[in-house]
Amino acid sequence: MKIIMLGAPGAGKGTQAKMIADKYGIPHVSTGDIFRANIKNGTPLGTEAKQYMDKGLLVPDELTVKILLDRVAQEDCKNGYVLDGFPRTIPQAEVLDKALAELGDKIDYAIDVDVPDENIVRRMGGRRACLSCGATYHIEHVPPKKEGICDVCGQPLVLRDDDRPETVQNRLNVYHEQTQPLIDFYQKKGVLKTVDGTKDMKDVFADIEAVLKA
Ligand code: ADP
Ligand code: AMP
Repeated sequence: MKIIMLGAPGAGKGTQAKMIADKYGIPHVSTGDIFRANIKNGTPLGTEAKQYMDKGLLVPDELTVKILLDRVAQEDCKNGYVLDGFPRTIPQAEVLDKALAELGDKIDYAIDVDVPDENIVRRMGGRRACLSCGATYHIEHVPPKKEGICDVCGQPLVLRDDDRPETVQNRLNVYHEQTQPLIDFYQKKGVLKTVDGTKDMKDVFADIEAVLKA
């Protein structure tokens, strides 16, 4: 099963992608997590990506497409995957489609987690991330057991540089201009499913499960 998570930054794509990955035993592939791991490890890719990420801009397609295609070519992705944060532009979606078509394959579902901009701004300020293992928390909705510490790996939690309020509005503008057109793109392909992302995260997941079972 090959699934794409669509939605604004902070809509809950990562939260739901992790739940899907756990339940269906497929890898959760997040281009944002791959970039953050590279930044943390000081790689040239990380240095280049950070310049864009800190401004709330998209990392150029050439760079992003290559890391994604390399990742999904790995053995653990053979039986499917859930993509979180990719594609974010029409050209990215076209490259992915073409690469899959060459293998006689295609995307099964594009799930749009729909959340209005007003809710997003509130959510992002409360998000806390573990840069070691990629776990995500929210100071009100999903607090860690011990304040500021990751439940999974014990490392400190941070407010991501790109979750600062001044950057969030930029990311939303970029989303509306460059990523939202993908909703139409996947609708035309007949694989788009929309869920109400303003519900409690367990209820959002129940709606996604219903879509995947249908
Ligand atoms: P995305 O991957 O789309 O950027 P996340 O999954 O990281 O978004 O979620 C953004 C923030 O909102 C996180 O702090 C997360 O814990 C919180 N969150 C996710 N889903 C919900 C929900 N349904 N209700 C309230 N908060 C949520
Ligand atoms: P995310 O963790 O998905 O919110 O992504 C964080 C940031 O990484 C984004 O704001 C972009 O700067 C960059 N990024 C992640 N995925 C992509 C992508 N598919 N295309 C371009 N930039 C991306």
